[in-house]
Amino acid sequence: MSKQLYELGEKPPLGEVPEKMHAWLIRPERFGKPTEAFQKEVVNTPSIADDEVLVYVMAAGINYNNVWAGLGIPVNVIAARNKGGEPEDFHIGGSDASGIVYKVGKDVTNVKVGDEVVMHCGQYSRNCEWVKKGGDPMYSPTFKIWGYETNYGSFAQFTRVQAQQCMPKPKHMNWEESAAYTLVAATAWRMLHGWGASSIKKGDVVLIWGGAGGLGSMAIQIAKAVGATSVAMVSGEDKFDYCMKLGAKGCINRNDFDHWGMLPHWKDNAGYAKWLKGVRSFGAKIWEVLGEKRAPNIVFEHPGETTIPTSIFVCETGGMVVVCAGTTGYNATVDLRYLWMRQKRLQGSHFANTEQSNQMNELALRGQLDPCMSRAFTYEELPIAHQLMHDNKHPHGNMSVLIGSTGFGLGASGKPPVAMVHPTLPKGDVHTTPAPYPMSVPLPSIAEGEALTIADDGSKVRDLMHRGIISCTPDDTVGSVAKIMVDKEIHAVVVMDEQGMAVGVVSQTDMVLARQGRTPDQARAMLAREVMTPGCATCDADMLLSDAVSLLTARRMHRLVVTEKDQPVGVLSMTDVVRKIIGE
Ligand code: NAP
Repeated sequence: MSKQLYELGEKPPLGEVPEKMHAWLIRPERFGKPTEAFQKEVVNTPSIADDEVLVYVMAAGINYNNVWAGLGIPVNVIAARNKGGEPEDFHIGGSDASGIVYKVGKDVTNVKVGDEVVMHCGQYSRNCEWVKKGGDPMYSPTFKIWGYETNYGSFAQFTRVQAQQCMPKPKHMNWEESAAYTLVAATAWRMLHGWGASSIKKGDVVLIWGGAGGLGSMAIQIAKAVGATSVAMVSGEDKFDYCMKLGAKGCINRNDFDHWGMLPHWKDNAGYAKWLKGVRSFGAKIWEVLGEKRAPNIVFEHPGETTIPTSIFVCETGGMVVVCAGTTGYNATVDLRYLWMRQKRLQGSHFANTEQSNQMNELALRGQLDPCMSRAFTYEELPIAHQLMHDNKHPHGNMSVLIGSTGFGLGASGKPPVAMVHPTLPKGDVHTTPAPYPMSVPLPSIAEGEALTIADDGSKVRDLMHRGIISCTPDDTVGSVAKIMVDKEIHAVVVMDEQGMAVGVVSQTDMVLARQGRTPDQARAMLAREVMTPGCATCDADMLLSDAVSLLTARRMHRLVVTEKDQPVGVLSMTDVVRKIIGE
């Protein structure tokens, strides 16, 4: 008679599935830091559907998404699944793994019991109409990330996956190496190969952000395999050797430049000129590294907010900036002139479909993809591995944890088809990356998105606004507008046309920007219409103050013109709001 539960490392006879299994569980009542959120428990081994496979997990890859699952933010993944009808009150994470097939559903044809496999993390319903019609499963409303959005991931003796997720394990890799690369490598594959005419080609130049990181190290190797030339971005020269051994032609230390961040406003002549100088010298550095004056055909993006303006600027005419994350922030500022005049493409990308994951895995099977595993942990250390990530103290590269494997370095049964250099990261190199958001946070659709409720005490705009409008005409000079500002001690003047309609606002910032590159006399002689910020955001005096604040922050404005019966009657400024906050 078979055992009900096998101890860790005690492999059940092939094909025998015990009723229970050991697993690391997250439960809502202990949401918090990883060392508290993850607890060892024994649970029922999951059953499988006709298109599913039960895999005995040998090693699991560690990703940031299960730090978030443990914290319970920004999504309570357990509650989300309960809402969708799944009864389990726990989460078993893990979105990367290597293991052995122990059971297959009746419709499964691509794997059989005993196969050694690695798994990609893309799940979708085979009954989805879009998928049935041949649509890319990545666009299916049923698409989910296994082990984050779904239960029964790889942090357990057995994991439940769809058959289409299983791919052959590279024989030359051990269990922990083969569990480390799939998520990042498949993501990088789609980013570079998934976009039609813009996809990577032999001879292309690719600029790769975070070349020593999880995605970047895969992108360098994928570019090399296709015969493209890559330039890797890193934060220190000690990582140059690592990226070059992976196949980069050269590297750039991003700390040699300081023009990063959101774009200065295009009206800000001085700020924009400084940014332009910075980005041009960065472009020249790319030429220097390449040894020729060529711009990147593809920019491989994930830092987001701080780097996107540069990525779009340096990208070749007709080229593509492809982005899968916004690790430094989500507001990508784009100077549209460069985008449309040079006909560049800003392309979003998320994980990869089955076909792309398998194409990537071919590279691994051929020995052309180093998994870049920086550290492997024991089963007991699984929460610690996540805690290091949580605290940003984990090493660069990809990390794994042993599950069924009884020791490090086991499971390789062949030599790599081609000789591989295993580059090592500089000693003591740990992350400085801000904690990235989970790779898949369900975004609310328009229909289901809930409006955020902002705490409010019922105050109306009329309770805080300043009555009376201090205005000028479009033809008043900047000199006279400045005098009004100084005399009345105000920060902005509303520009009204002959019909009494507010057509714009001249703010102190507009005045300062008008002075740039001009003599005081020239600046004073300019007209309000030339320097004003056109358009005028208005709100009704009866609007809730909290709604007005949302309007101000969403549009990054400092003031609203307040109307009554559509006539301007006053101004609500951010200063008024700040005064209320501090109780003045
Ligand atoms: P990682 O291993 O932490 O690497 C990120 C790299 O970014 C680091 O190596 C770092 O390198 C660089 N970096 C940090 N701060 C930077 C800054 N201010 N400017 C420029 N570069 C900076 O992470 P990863 O695994 O490559 O993942 C990167 C992002 O992609 C994460 O946000 C992750 O969640 C997301 N992701 C998305 C998907 C998807 O399907 N959508 C899949 C996988 C990952 P240096 O310090 O050396 O420059």
